[in-house]
Amino acid sequence: MQYDIVIIGACTAGLYFAKRMAEQGYKVLVAEKDKKEDLAKRLRVFHMDYGEMQKYAVPKPEEGKDFLHSFKFSASRSALGKWEKYHEHTVYVMDLPAYVGRLMRWAEEYGVDFWFETAFEDVIIQNGKVVGAKLRQGEKEFTVSSRLLADCSGIAAAVRTKLPEDNLCENFKLKDSDKFYVTVNYISFLKPEKVHIRHTISWPYYKVWIAPREIESGAILGVGANMSYAYGERCLQKFLENITIPPYHIDKVERGTVPYHRPPYSFVADGFVALGDSACLTKPNNGEGVTAAWYLVDIAAEEIGYALQNEGIASAEEMWGVNVRYQTTQGAVFAELLATMTGAVDCSREENDYEFEHNLIFKNNLLNQQVDKKQEKNELIKGLLKGVLNGRMRPKTIKKLLHYSSIASKIKHHYQAFPTDMHGYAAWKLKADALWASAGSMADVVYDEGYYLNDL
Ligand SMILES: Cc1cc2nc3c(=O)[nH]c(=O)nc-3n(C[C@H](O)[C@H](O)[C@H](O)COP(=O)(O)OP(=O)(O)OC[C@H]3O[C@@H](n4cnc5c(N)ncnc54)[C@H](O)[C@@H]3O)c2cc1C
Repeated sequence: MQYDIVIIGACTAGLYFAKRMAEQGYKVLVAEKDKKEDLAKRLRVFHMDYGEMQKYAVPKPEEGKDFLHSFKFSASRSALGKWEKYHEHTVYVMDLPAYVGRLMRWAEEYGVDFWFETAFEDVIIQNGKVVGAKLRQGEKEFTVSSRLLADCSGIAAAVRTKLPEDNLCENFKLKDSDKFYVTVNYISFLKPEKVHIRHTISWPYYKVWIAPREIESGAILGVGANMSYAYGERCLQKFLENITIPPYHIDKVERGTVPYHRPPYSFVADGFVALGDSACLTKPNNGEGVTAAWYLVDIAAEEIGYALQNEGIASAEEMWGVNVRYQTTQGAVFAELLATMTGAVDCSREENDYEFEHNLIFKNNLLNQQVDKKQEKNELIKGLLKGVLNGRMRPKTIKKLLHYSSIASKIKHHYQAFPTDMHGYAAWKLKADALWASAGSMADVVYDEGYYLNDL
């Protein structure tokens, strides 16, 4: 069996990529291990920024089907709850399995073939190039040839992790410290007339958020932290000791993991591309991955569309533009954020409150707002020094913050200078490895048994 493109995984990344390639006239197969009726059932409710959704011209959800409700801004609050920042944007709250069903029908209209209950087993490699996949349906094992094999299998990265060691696209497996363990509690308030959660409020210090639920008398109380669900539970307990939430009971709990690791430096290899969670494409500040992945998929669909106009396997060289266009834009922004976040949470609750109060790191994010980066940097330094002088910030916290923000800025600039052809890649990668080694990870500032190292 021969397809131009074989996609592993039929969820938000795989379905959007399938549609984008099929509309260009390519023969596309999506292989999905789950049954059609179980698609995306691991999560019920999910949030998407409506402005971002519009950019990708994806189908609109409908009331009574996949659309649950929407709100117009979200907020983040300081560790002691005294200060708040606003983020103006319209957020759609949707039913994930129903919306994924809509995306699937949309892809089908463009002629995409689907094989359900079909698990990817291994890559087929010839002369160092990926030329197809070994698949399994129950007891039956068979192969399918492709000119491009796309890994859209989510955090499992089923295909990418099977690539040979020295492949252009790295085959790293995520450790516990490279993931966020997310627990979503669907809660009902015991005195519902007193509380209405109308938009998302997050407390980055505790990695906890609260969001509206489809019933007015309830909310979603979520926590996502490195290492384990148990560590996330401890973060939630610490949050509840410091921030008052009206009494509630838990109706239902959902759990899942999101990547918290830099993406592979190269998304492409000969005959291969990694997209979505398999390429660690989640937003570093909140773990959302759907529209973050579509940004890369859009670029990949254009570049791979051109590459496949030539005969044979899509080569890494022909697809190199995927890396360049992604890493120099969203890649650079996310990489900077990932490196900054470690410093931002590695402090005491009082220091986190001071950062909110003085717009250091945590700021309002308003529509049509102009940001002057130079002025922002000067204000950060001034604010931190003032914090030391008046005893609100410890020198060691400042030292760490400055260390992380300086590394983060170097990482961003390095990504912005991603080599435009493959020849400069080896040297670029070497420097990137050194920068990430000094950036560390949020997991480094976690106690196994306790809380943040600096929480006195
Ligand atoms: C609790 C939680 C809440 C979240 N909330 C949000 C949110 O509100 N908004 C947001 O934008 N993001 C959210 N995310 C992140 C978001 O869910 C992911 O970023 C997104 O679903 C990734 O899409 P994907 O298509 O790459 O992978 P997935 O959605 O994981 O899909 C991968 C697909 O591949 C299939 N597959 C896996 N292995 C194989 C194999 N060997 N063979 C064949 N098929 C295979 C799987 O069955 C699955 O259908 C949340 C994540 C969690 C855990």
